[in-house]
Amino acid sequence: MTNSLVTVAYIAASALFILSLGGLSNQESARRGNLFGILGMVLALLATAFSTQVTGYTTLISMVVPGVIIGAIVAARVAMTSMPELVAILHSFVGLAAVLVGVANYLQPTTLVGAEETIHQLEIYIGVFIGAVTFTGSIVAFGKLRALISSKPLTLPGRHLLNLGMLAATVWFGISFMGVEAPAGLMPLLIMTAIASVLGIHLVAAIGGADMPVVISMLNSYSGWAAAAAGFMLSNDLLIITGALVGSSGAILSFIMCRAMNRSFISVILGGFGANSGGSAASSSDGVVGEATSITAEETVDLLETAKQVIIVPGYGMAVAQAQHSVARITEMLRDRGTAVRFGIHPVAGRLPGHMNVLLAEANVPYDIVLEMEEINDDFPETDVVLVIGANDTVNPSAIEDPNSPIAGMPVLEVWKAKHAIVMKRSLASGYAGVDNPLFYKENTQMLFGDARTNVDAILAKLVESTEPTKAEPALATAR
Ligand code: NDP
Repeated sequence: MTNSLVTVAYIAASALFILSLGGLSNQESARRGNLFGILGMVLALLATAFSTQVTGYTTLISMVVPGVIIGAIVAARVAMTSMPELVAILHSFVGLAAVLVGVANYLQPTTLVGAEETIHQLEIYIGVFIGAVTFTGSIVAFGKLRALISSKPLTLPGRHLLNLGMLAATVWFGISFMGVEAPAGLMPLLIMTAIASVLGIHLVAAIGGADMPVVISMLNSYSGWAAAAAGFMLSNDLLIITGALVGSSGAILSFIMCRAMNRSFISVILGGFGANSGGSAASSSDGVVGEATSITAEETVDLLETAKQVIIVPGYGMAVAQAQHSVARITEMLRDRGTAVRFGIHPVAGRLPGHMNVLLAEANVPYDIVLEMEEINDDFPETDVVLVIGANDTVNPSAIEDPNSPIAGMPVLEVWKAKHAIVMKRSLASGYAGVDNPLFYKENTQMLFGDARTNVDAILAKLVESTEPTKAEPALATAR
């Protein structure tokens, strides 16, 4: 393939990636966006593979084929609840690739001189630094999400000084690296790689469970910048463009998420949040006291049948229980009876941004009744019944009512303002952030204890029973 043809293919792939990002910003166009992304990647791979620079096809095929097979198997098997872990570990590969490309590039003889040589060395040094931070940081994020390591923030004494010290050492070794001819700079480069690896571990270890969504998107951004740096080292325009797209979209997403949680990006990056709350392993017994009132599935149906306005607030528990299909059928049945049913989605409900939207789309819930937190939060006082299905942190009133709460200031869905709030979960245990939830003890809250799927199915069965038989049969059959 000639160089100009490769350039044309790269431009087309870049355009497809931009269209893909545009498509992914909206549920209705998300599938199309995904398709554009796939097409762009296939085009990029083919153009690179058939470019004049590539000659070692045996090596290429022996790497790409197993990679494609492993990637396809892993992606097909991964449960939606484990998606953030997969994303985290994939980010670590990008980081590692940037480190390896950087070191290999440095050891490769070059004809560059003067300013060009300096720029090239700088690209290598920065690329390896970002790559190493991304690599180890992503592994720690993976460990935390998989509960292999505690989600509690690691708050070492003087940790900010430690980080500053590591940054200063990076600059120091950078000066020695830039000052010498290759390969004499290999030692400072490798020492800096080790320091950056420790920095990556320390930065992410200091971040608590509740901030993990921001960390994932921040690492996404880092992996993009690492890829862009690799693109500069390899003089590959497409890698630069793709890396910049991933880097900037990850940074924008992190910013949006911080705004949604009322946190400053800097405070998230510096970590330590949730140190007192203790992450997912924390006990729910201290702090909040009171008596929770329980309700049965039958009583829930009685409330639903008289309600005019219903809001369903799903959370991580709905994903674990895989209750979305039965929830969709309940929605359909209530809407058929003339009840206004809508969904309220918190930006960090579940375990990855958009988690709930994906599950509801999979269950064919119409997009127009799935609303974002800010679109629906003012409507709770006029709502008769709120069904909270496996959500906890995202509906915790202490974020608003208790200035000393570790999640104080985080916007939450104000479900307690409705006439009745029914919370479906198995116990009074805390959610991912490990923060007690006073919602369970409010006067208008009733707890429907048990597995969300079992309870949602029981509600559906009761609703079907009380509906005329002709309409009821198909509803139950589809839910199954
Ligand atoms: P939470 O994690 O706060 O709570 C989920 C609740 O679901 C648990 O308290 C649990 O209670 C219940 N549950 C679990 N399994 C079942 C089941 N089978 N049936 C019924 N209930 C069940 O969920 P939210 O969605 O409200 O909040 C998300 C949290 O995750 C936030 O803290 C967020 O910061 C964090 N996070 C979000 C990410 C994202 O990008 N969205 C990524 C990483 C973390 P019980 O054990 O009593 O049943």
